[in-house]
Amino acid sequence: MSARRYVGVEGHIGRTPLIRLRRLSELTGSEILGKAEFMNPGGSVKDRAALGIITDAETKGLLKPGDIIVEGTAGNTGIGLTVVGHAKGYRTVIVIPETQSPEKINLLRTLGAEVIAVAEKPYSDPGNYNRVAQRLAEEKGWFWANQFDNVANRLAHYRTTGPEIWEQTQGEVTAFVSSVGTGGTLAGTALYLKERNPRTAVVCADPYGAAMWSWFTNGHTDVKDGDSCAEGIGQTRVTKNLEDIVVDRAYRIRDQSALTIVYQLLREEGLFLGLSSGINIAGAASFAKERGAGQTIVTLLCDSGLKYQSKLFNPNWLKEHRFDPNLPIESVLS
Ligand code: PMP
Repeated sequence: MSARRYVGVEGHIGRTPLIRLRRLSELTGSEILGKAEFMNPGGSVKDRAALGIITDAETKGLLKPGDIIVEGTAGNTGIGLTVVGHAKGYRTVIVIPETQSPEKINLLRTLGAEVIAVAEKPYSDPGNYNRVAQRLAEEKGWFWANQFDNVANRLAHYRTTGPEIWEQTQGEVTAFVSSVGTGGTLAGTALYLKERNPRTAVVCADPYGAAMWSWFTNGHTDVKDGDSCAEGIGQTRVTKNLEDIVVDRAYRIRDQSALTIVYQLLREEGLFLGLSSGINIAGAASFAKERGAGQTIVTLLCDSGLKYQSKLFNPNWLKEHRFDPNLPIESVLS
């Protein structure tokens, strides 16, 4: 038998299970389903983008074994690039804001990435993590993954996440809900699903402090008040991955709602998730309530709560941030 039947870790990204979120489905009368992206080899949805960006660069002759990949990331893209990088013979240098969870920063170091933790700065500041990564690439001749503006990111979702959702729901999906970090997930999946059925609703779930609700609702990025503890999402500019994307509905989601969902799923459904998953699911619940029963709504369970034990699952942190982990799930729909 040919050994080509079997593939290494880079061949096992995607094709994640689609999990029914029982309580919210019962409460809304719609099927609310989450794709288990935390089951990817690097533990998040960003493995898809990492593989897509690396494969695209290889095809274009921009990467050869032994090369160094540099990227600015909230963590998960760095983890994905490092995992896929190891499997394919590349080293990684990861620039990360020091505000991100210590679990992600430690994991990156353990995986063997060179980690440069920088102070959190806005995109307009040359010290911004992403701008530092770009500068390092130019100075050292490294490959810059550029996840925000490299459309190989959204193409990965167009080629994998979208078709998987279509097949797993046998075309029954009526709405797709996503938050935005780079916008790759929302854009690529939306482009595919709209192509298969233009009536599939595309919904953005945005945390406070981000401008995507304002962009999709008002056509400008001026409204970005508030703040969120969700890591990996919360975009204030229209990235290349988001250009030309239209959504049917956008919601702003409070962290408390996302946290209530995360705790309910942990305690009653055996799902241990990070806060961006909670934001996504809150968006799905809002759309289910607004449009009524009978829908099939799909969203992503982006990463695991394991990466946030020192924050979301730490009683002192919860108290400091005035979050209540014991609110009833019904409060999310009120
Ligand atoms: N959730 C988490 C935990 C993430 O790390 C990211 C990626 N930054 C996202 C959601 C958003 O994905 P995307 O970059 O495709 O918009």
